[in-house]
Amino acid sequence: MPRHTPVPGGVAVLELAVALGAPPSVRFNDLPQPVVRHEGKWLALIGIPLDTLPGTHEIVVESGKGRQLQRLEVRAKHYPTQILRIADKKMVTPPPELEARIEAEAARIAGWKRHFSGDTAPETRFDLPATGPRSAKFGVKRVLNGEPRSPHAGLDVAVGVGAPLRSPAPGTVLAVDDLYFTGKTVVIDHGQGVLTLYAHLSRIDVAPGQELRRGEVFGASGVSGRITGPHLHWVVILGGTAVDPELFLSD
Ligand code: ZN
Repeated sequence: MPRHTPVPGGVAVLELAVALGAPPSVRFNDLPQPVVRHEGKWLALIGIPLDTLPGTHEIVVESGKGRQLQRLEVRAKHYPTQILRIADKKMVTPPPELEARIEAEAARIAGWKRHFSGDTAPETRFDLPATGPRSAKFGVKRVLNGEPRSPHAGLDVAVGVGAPLRSPAPGTVLAVDDLYFTGKTVVIDHGQGVLTLYAHLSRIDVAPGQELRRGEVFGASGVSGRITGPHLHWVVILGGTAVDPELFLSD
């Protein structure tokens, strides 16, 4: 189980006021969230987007009893700011002729993030997919050449080109692609809206639909896409939103 961390970019683990029986379904921000049975109770895992305001929110629980609302208290969390300077203008602002491609790719990524395979119990205990230091943490706010950019929605692992990447848990390959920003990219489905995404690969060894065991190599790290040096950019998605991957690591 991920650690209960009800903050922007975190995961809330909420006990549902629903008797055991048919599994309830839970939505937050109108997106389905995973529900697991644990010690005789139903627990919902709620992915909280980084831009969520602290305060009281509501989740929607549908069960045999009908539709209920349940409160979700989101606490504030401070994420550090990283100031970046990049001299190469092409690295900062993509050329206008690539706008259509970038837009189409963003829509594809948004589709993967909403993928919800309801029939599988989600896998939520992850091993780090590459061996290396964690070089950029999740949630860091970025200011690039004086302009605020999107916060860092993944965890970076410092590895060179060609390091093996291993599935952090059992899963099924949902997508492989080659995208402008994230380069060679793999998405693995771990069940019920829990997905992991890997960016900037040098090599992809798998195809969509392929099942992976925990620790199975699916590709190698690299420097593809829009980055200044090789590393793995690892994203964990839960309930349609990127959350902090370190909440799922057992160490
Ligand atoms: Zn990154």
